[in-house]
Amino acid sequence: MYPPKFDYYRAGSTDEAVSLVKEHGGKFLAGGHSLIPVMNLRLADPGSLVDIGRLDLKGISSDGSGVKIGALTTHAMVAASDAVPAALSEAAGMIGDPQVRNRGTVGGNIAHADPASDLPTVLLALKATINTNGRSINADDFFVDLFTTALDESEIITSVSVPHEGANTGSAYTKLFNPASRYAMVGAAAQVTIENGVCSAASVAVGGLTPKATRASSVEAALVGKPLNSDTLAAAAAAVANDLDPDDILGDIHASTEYRQQMAPVFVRRALEAAVSRA
Ligand SMILES: Cc1cc2nc3c(=O)[nH]c(=O)nc-3n(C[C@H](O)[C@H](O)[C@H](O)COP(=O)(O)OP(=O)(O)OC[C@H]3O[C@@H](n4cnc5c(N)ncnc54)[C@H](O)[C@@H]3O)c2cc1C
Repeated sequence: MYPPKFDYYRAGSTDEAVSLVKEHGGKFLAGGHSLIPVMNLRLADPGSLVDIGRLDLKGISSDGSGVKIGALTTHAMVAASDAVPAALSEAAGMIGDPQVRNRGTVGGNIAHADPASDLPTVLLALKATINTNGRSINADDFFVDLFTTALDESEIITSVSVPHEGANTGSAYTKLFNPASRYAMVGAAAQVTIENGVCSAASVAVGGLTPKATRASSVEAALVGKPLNSDTLAAAAAAVANDLDPDDILGDIHASTEYRQQMAPVFVRRALEAAVSRA
């Protein structure tokens, strides 16, 4: 398959990348693992591509408040990192196959906002912030709808900030894989803090089955203040039904709406059990 014709520009700096998109229109090109396939399928015809692949936006650094992940950091680098919360390295390690993980980038993954992507779900649960050339956007506000984010046309993601996990805190990500692509048909991310045997904080998100990843506030409410035994986890996971609008649940040839709906509590529970074991 060939993409439609496009003009190619290579940016030497973030400012130049933004100027080139303002001048010529079109799209930033990072790993190309979502953009080129949608061009090949004629679902996008941006006319111009501004290659940002050589910008200095790759790498993971840590300071007192958290971890900063450059937009061009590959999924393989995140999967191999001990500096990021376990849920994030786990999710990155479950993306596609080794080729996808070695080319695909964190910035490209979240800018594309595919409902079946893993990182939006985990970044919501970890209360991440998306940093661009002009502002910082909470993950809660960043993911707007199917393939839609809060980014302006010429706005470039420079990094993602993730708070450090505090004491007695653990996180995990689990998903129901599409057996062919390994995209998520249901994905669940959880972060819990346990103090004196009781859950003092919980943050949970689900994705893959809705147009955009969703915070599971009913699950969180069912955890906080409770001892995290199997009864609590089962009841909390079941509460995810209250966080999902049945009319919003996606269905396709890989998994029906009803099947995804049934699987959501199963994967939320698995994520909670793994997060609790790490807390
Ligand atoms: C076979 C296959 C399997 C896959 N499986 C999974 C999976 O299991 N889970 C999963 O989550 N993903 C999966 N992916 C997608 C993969 O994770 C890609 O990394 C990701 O979707 C896009 O990242 P990219 O760097 O390739 O971005 P590109 O394809 O280069 O760009 C995607 C979009 O993001 C924009 N963009 C890129 N970088 C920036 C930036 N810094 N600022 C602003 N806009 C930007 C581009 O303009 C474009 O619109 C799969 C892809 C393939 C091909």
